[in-house]
Amino acid sequence: MSGIDVKSLYLTELKSEIVNLNLQTFRAQQIYQWLHVNGASSFDQMTNISKQLRDTLSNYFHIFNCEIEKKFVSQIDGTVKYLYRLNDGEYIEAVLMKYKYGYTLCISTQVGCKMGCEFCASGKGGFVRNLTPSEMLSQIHTAQNDMNVRVSHIVLMGMGEPLDNYKNVLKFLKLVSDSNGLNIGMRNITISTSGLVDRIYDLLSENLQLTLSVSLHAPNDRIRNSIMPINRKYPIDDLLSACRRYAQITSRRVSFEYAMINGLNDSAEDAKELSQKIEGIHCHVNLIPINNIKENNFRKSSTERLKKFLSVIRSNGINVTVRRSLGSDIDASCGQLRSRHQKGEV
Ligand code: SAH
Ligand code: SF4
Repeated sequence: MSGIDVKSLYLTELKSEIVNLNLQTFRAQQIYQWLHVNGASSFDQMTNISKQLRDTLSNYFHIFNCEIEKKFVSQIDGTVKYLYRLNDGEYIEAVLMKYKYGYTLCISTQVGCKMGCEFCASGKGGFVRNLTPSEMLSQIHTAQNDMNVRVSHIVLMGMGEPLDNYKNVLKFLKLVSDSNGLNIGMRNITISTSGLVDRIYDLLSENLQLTLSVSLHAPNDRIRNSIMPINRKYPIDDLLSACRRYAQITSRRVSFEYAMINGLNDSAEDAKELSQKIEGIHCHVNLIPINNIKENNFRKSSTERLKKFLSVIRSNGINVTVRRSLGSDIDASCGQLRSRHQKGEV
C-alpha cells in the first residue's frame, strides 16, 4: 500500500500534489468530487479522466477503502450492520439506521480501543491502530453506495475513542462537512467520548457546532472508577465541568449516555446523585439498557429498576429518555461483531 492517502487530503492539499505532478489544477477539483461526493473507490471509476492519467494517479496516490466483509439487515427495523475489511486486513464496524429525518451512520474511529471499559467489547479486545480520515469517510461512502441512500447524520459512536485519535478525527470532521464534499453539517454530527477532558477543551477551542455525547455511566468516582479506567485520570467532577463549559459556550445540549447495569449503577440513590451532579447543565440523559456481552458478567437492569431510575431523574426536571434499541436482532452494538468474527463465530 504505497502512495499518498489521497482521500485524507483537503482540496488545497490535493491541489498542491496535482501541481507537483505537473498537472492542471482543475484536475484536483475533479478528483476531489469523485472521491468525496461519489465515493469512488478506484481511479478507474473516474470516467472523465483519461486512462493514461488515471494510471499516473494510481501510481502516485492510494485510495483507502472499506470492503463489505459481512452485512446484517435487521428484520425488525431495517437497521444495517456492516463488518468492513480495511486495506491492511483489519476489521471495523459501522451501523446504518433509518430515522424519520433521514439516515444516520454510526462509524468507528479506531481499530479496537485503549480505554478498557469493563462493559465494552471494543475495550476488551485491546487497541490495534487509529483510523485515517479517509477510512472514516469511506465507511460513509461504502454504506451510501451499497444501499443507494444518502447519509444525513453521523455519530462517532462505533469502535474506538474518537478523542484518542484527535488529529485524524478533526480532519475527518472538516472533510465530511466541506461543501465541496459530503457537506454534512456539524450540527448533524455527534461525537461520543468516554471523557478525555483535555481533548474536550481542545474541541471547544475549535468552535464547532458539534453535539457532544459523554459516556457517563455512573454518578460518582467510586462506581465510575470500577467500570471506566479513564476516570482515574479524569475524575467525574472535572469531566462535568468540561461538559458544563461545552454547553455554555456552544449553546448545544450535551448528551449523557448512561448504560444501565443491574445492581451496579441503577439504584434510586444513584439516580438522585446523578441528578445533583448534572444539575444546571443544558443536557439530555440517555438511558441504555446494557447489551450483554460474553466477555463480562454485567446484565441489563430490570424494567422496574429502569423505570424507577428514569422517574427520579425526571422528577428533578432533567430531560431523560430510554434509548430506542435499533437492530436488536442483529447485535448492533459496536465491537461485538468484530470480536465474534475474530473468534470465527460469524
Ligand atoms: N469510545 C466512545 C465511543 C464509542 S462507544 C465512548 O465510549 O463514548 C459508544 C457507546 O457505546 C458508549 O456510550 C459506550 O459506553 C457504549 N457501550 C459500550 N459497550 C456497551 C454495552 N455492552 N452495552 C451498551 N452500551 C455500550
Ligand atoms: Fe473504548 Fe468507548 Fe468501549 Fe470505553 S466504551 S472501551 S471508550 S469504545
